[in-house]
Amino acid sequence: ETPFLELRNVTKTYKIKQGLFGETKSLNALKDLSLKLSKGDVLGLVGESGCGKSTLAKILLGLEAPTSGKVLVDGTPIGGHDRLALARRIQPIFQDPYSSLNPRKTIQDLIALPLRVHKVGDEASRTKAVREILDVVGLPSRVLTNYPSQMSGGQRQRVAIARALVMRPQIVICDEPTSALDVSVQSQILNLLGDLRQEFGLTYLFISHDLAVVEHLATQVAVMYLGRIVEETDAAALFDNARHPYSQALLKSVLTPDPAMEVPDTQLGMAYPNPIDPPSGCHFHPRCPQATALCKTQTPRPITDTQGLVECHLHDPKADMAQTAQEALT
Ligand code: SF4
Ligand code: MG
Repeated sequence: ETPFLELRNVTKTYKIKQGLFGETKSLNALKDLSLKLSKGDVLGLVGESGCGKSTLAKILLGLEAPTSGKVLVDGTPIGGHDRLALARRIQPIFQDPYSSLNPRKTIQDLIALPLRVHKVGDEASRTKAVREILDVVGLPSRVLTNYPSQMSGGQRQRVAIARALVMRPQIVICDEPTSALDVSVQSQILNLLGDLRQEFGLTYLFISHDLAVVEHLATQVAVMYLGRIVEETDAAALFDNARHPYSQALLKSVLTPDPAMEVPDTQLGMAYPNPIDPPSGCHFHPRCPQATALCKTQTPRPITDTQGLVECHLHDPKADMAQTAQEALT
């Protein structure tokens, strides 16, 4: 079966100039990354700030082009689809709707905007569609004349969800959809997204730095580190038996009661590396409790087996970790 969305060997490189007269350096936001999203999937994409997950979302939405590699929608390159067809297929929901909703527009206008942009229906049918979708996301019709500033954070996120769904898309790309919300409101929005998935048969790519949020909804999980997917598997398998040391550390951080702690420093001992200047060998080695000498010099290769994908020498039958551990001691 053809995946709805696919990234094939995608690399995205940004040129970063350091200082006014500084040298230009390359930042590989995504490195030879492949990913498939099939009908009915809820793929949770997890990683810390700077891992490339928002870049990945923008590329899947056609908002940015990869430096190399392919983006396929229903098996054909994203560039070959017309804009309306794509908008009907894929819609985004971003973090912090306050910054993505124009403060000078009413809720009616904000939700109708994608319909108007893509010239879907006439004014009367658009008004009807807006009322229907408002009800679906659990907002009363009296808010239609409100402005975003008159709404709570949770209500604004419902408006953003309504605006995405008014196009009746099949795929929704959620980038940190609950990160700006209070914990109690977070779970209401997650429940809503779960209900909408059932009601409309949606497929989600669900991006978050927080595994606990992903656990709510995801059927599969992909863990990202410095522009690579280092582990990908069924959600149940990840939560029962994470294999990559980084996934294991993220899982431990879920159990840490401090919600402000995005980086699991207590497990990893040091901060996330600068993507402009990534560590040698396995990029995770300076933070990895199981690293050996091999990890400092050699990049692990992706291993695919019945549990999914993992990119770590520990799970590569050809990498002799025992031997290199010995060498590290001598
Ligand atoms: Fe840790 Fe080495 Fe595996 Fe990288 S390859 S995650 S450093 S054990
Ligand atoms: Mg981000």
